[in-house]
Amino acid sequence: MTNQANDQPTRYVPADLPGRIQHYIGGAFVDSADGATFDVLEPVTNDVYLQAAAGKKADVDRAVAAARDAFVNGPWPRMLPRERSRILHRIADLVESRDARLAELESFDSGLPITQALGQARRAAENFRFFADLVVAQADDTFKVPGRQINYVNRKPIGVAGLITPWNTPFMLESWKLGPALATGNTVVLKPAEFTPLSASLWAGIFEEAGLPEGVFNLVNGLGEEAGDALVKHPDVPLISFTGESSTGQLIFANAAPNLKGLSMELGGKSPAVVFADADLDAAIDATIFGVFSLNGERCTAGSRILVERAVYDEFVERYAAQAQRVVVGDPQDPETEVGALVHPEHYDKVMSYIEIGKSEGRLVAGGGRPEGFESGNYVAPTVFADVPPSARIFQEEIFGPVVAITPFDTDEEALALANGVRYGLAAYVWTNDLKRAHNFSQAIEAGMVWLNSNNVRDLRTPFGGVKASGLGHEGGYRSIDFYTDQQAVHITLGKVHNPTFGKQAAG
Ligand code: NAD
Repeated sequence: MTNQANDQPTRYVPADLPGRIQHYIGGAFVDSADGATFDVLEPVTNDVYLQAAAGKKADVDRAVAAARDAFVNGPWPRMLPRERSRILHRIADLVESRDARLAELESFDSGLPITQALGQARRAAENFRFFADLVVAQADDTFKVPGRQINYVNRKPIGVAGLITPWNTPFMLESWKLGPALATGNTVVLKPAEFTPLSASLWAGIFEEAGLPEGVFNLVNGLGEEAGDALVKHPDVPLISFTGESSTGQLIFANAAPNLKGLSMELGGKSPAVVFADADLDAAIDATIFGVFSLNGERCTAGSRILVERAVYDEFVERYAAQAQRVVVGDPQDPETEVGALVHPEHYDKVMSYIEIGKSEGRLVAGGGRPEGFESGNYVAPTVFADVPPSARIFQEEIFGPVVAITPFDTDEEALALANGVRYGLAAYVWTNDLKRAHNFSQAIEAGMVWLNSNNVRDLRTPFGGVKASGLGHEGGYRSIDFYTDQQAVHITLGKVHNPTFGKQAAG
């Protein structure tokens, strides 16, 4: 890593950055059929630092053909789960052994703080280990009636899985799909987000070294409306696992309909954190600060609406705003940094425009624009609006940046109506020391996941997913295994075969 002079206080650039990246198809790195590339910017300067191959239909066709060939003729779907598991564990070992480099590149490409990128790289390894163990541990379902019949479920890989991923924590989110898709014997075509394609290209080397057979993993870089669209519409791709914006999810749903594909959709969120007056306020403030400002606020489960009971509202707002102002904004590669640079100038402009909107919708109590001392790059000061009414756009719409809206409430009923009063339903956080209220309230919240007096800790066996505009289906644990397998039922009669005697009625 070298320090460079810049108009920012400190500038870190990883050594040996690649200047271009290609697709990876059938075990080889290749350019696009038409030679096209697209620019990738680094978030701290917005300079173009990388050219990525821009895949289109021809490249997707080629990748799907390679994946289909590996599925039909290759060893992967026919290997024992324990044999695949061994390769997945090797993948996890390799990810772990390269975690520092992965974090450095991911942080440079996406603007995520390096310490958080390191956590995400380790989590990617953990995801592979988890699914490696799960497919071995899984017992097939059998249903027996002694002396009469045995019925069993034959789980089969489905074919070529299309994996389409977003730019927030790209490497980790790819592992969350690659792990179960591969563990269950499918072959894949991955289309990573165009803002952050760098870390995805590292999978190819890791998979080769771990011994994944050729053609099982294929990667096509490119724009969503070109490469992503071609993958969604391809007739030889029976499954699409998508993580991204709700509006993109709607489009993919429609485009996948003619081929009746299996779809898993992890979409946007506008998750509430509900703080009751009897809560441990110190813990609630720390957790809700982390919940919206970690990962630069570019977190699907961010608690970006905080609902606070009136009795502690003023104290909460004052303390929250003071702490938000102390959150350290800095170069993503600096280990002291808590909020880095947003991923891309387009996204930065979107977040900044919401901040301008928020100034007329709520009371600005922290941040509100570019932080002092940062003249360039996609830096946003952690921003807090208080007294935000539920009709406000900053209450209703996903901003996906370090911006939070705080709203007071007087009764549990009002808190519930506010919590549920948006189109999303991904996560919710509830802070109270009243056990009954905690459980009753959580059960009434329209959210796929609820954290009680806690923050984003989860066992990988539990389902992950949202309701309403936040998604369709669940990932995690056996839900992922179900999604990536056909469950064929086989029935055997052990006793006499009892068929109605069609065609044997007495003549005349
Ligand atoms: P996005 O929808 O813009 O893009 C996601 C992916 O879809 C990218 O790879 C993109 O190229 C591709 N894509 C775009 N248009 C497409 C099309 N027409 N056909 C096929 N593919 C297409 O999302 P983003 O901006 O990259 O990610 C941020 C969003 O992701 C936020 O809304 C966030 O909440 C959501 N997200 C959800 C979860 C979750 O688990 N629920 C996790 C992370 C992020």
